[in-house]
Amino acid sequence: MRSFRLPSGDQLPVLGMGTWKMGESSRSRSAEVKALRHGLDLGISLIDTAEMYGEGEAETVIAEAIAGRRSEVFLVSKVYPHNASYSAAIAACDRSLKRLQTDYLDLYLLHWRGAAPLSETLAAFEALQQAGKIRNYGVSNFDIDDMKEALDLPAGEAIATNQVLYNLSRRGIEWDLLPWCRQQHMPVMAYSPIEQGRLLPQRSLQTIAKQKGITAAQVAIAWLLHQENVVVIPKASSLKHVEENLAALDVQLSPEDLQMLDQAFPAPTRPVALQML
Ligand code: NDP
Repeated sequence: MRSFRLPSGDQLPVLGMGTWKMGESSRSRSAEVKALRHGLDLGISLIDTAEMYGEGEAETVIAEAIAGRRSEVFLVSKVYPHNASYSAAIAACDRSLKRLQTDYLDLYLLHWRGAAPLSETLAAFEALQQAGKIRNYGVSNFDIDDMKEALDLPAGEAIATNQVLYNLSRRGIEWDLLPWCRQQHMPVMAYSPIEQGRLLPQRSLQTIAKQKGITAAQVAIAWLLHQENVVVIPKASSLKHVEENLAALDVQLSPEDLQMLDQAFPAPTRPVALQML
């Protein structure tokens, strides 16, 4: 799979698996574990989670899915803003590692900006990196001004990524944030790539999907994969969805397809404040 080289030299794959809403119900747990294992079997190594998801339970679902195969996984978790002071971030990371039953994260992100001084969070990330508990670190839901501020701080230069809401119906970052991240050679991780399913009934997606004999979700994911510098992390808890999302890597969108999508979902023509879910 195509990947981006991070400042540490590690490779961040372009497609991963999200886990928001996993671990919330004991009835769906075994399906979630199976879906993640299936993704790993098929070669999707990137798994995105957060201490927030299921209040830690998503991380325990992942622990079950990756047991015995940690080296195959590029594991991402996130710290709550209210745990982002220096000592609280280190403690939160330790709790995530314990739930995930591993001794390191490949990438650790500040979930969104809160009251904790950014310099403290970054200092904690740097200390965690030096201790070998995280290999890379970054941020999430940061708009361009926050990014500029963060990169100017000590330890800011090593920020590996910004994970933000980006899909056909949320193209605001194309105005400034995405081009700026490209200039920094920093991949952007696009979350909610199919807008949690809400994009799927849209007519242009359905039309293109029908022409190609694929699904609307695959068109939406392929469109994101077509954007330069973008990693895509759809969440799927069914085997069929995992397979479909992986196959989106092979979908070629023609200039006519791209034009139809641009008409239905116009690119921004002025600055748009970053949205989040
Ligand atoms: P997605 O856009 O990935 O949509 C997930 C929904 O789409 C699920 O209901 C899933 O169903 C369904 N789905 C997945 N694949 C298909 C398919 N091929 N066809 C039809 N339906 C499909 O939304 P998320 O909000 O979950 O975003 C993805 C990930 O991004 C999250 O799980 C999380 O890891 C991350 N995220 C990060 C945020 C942040 O603040 N940093 C905020 C939001 C998300 P099913 O589960 O039944 O397969």
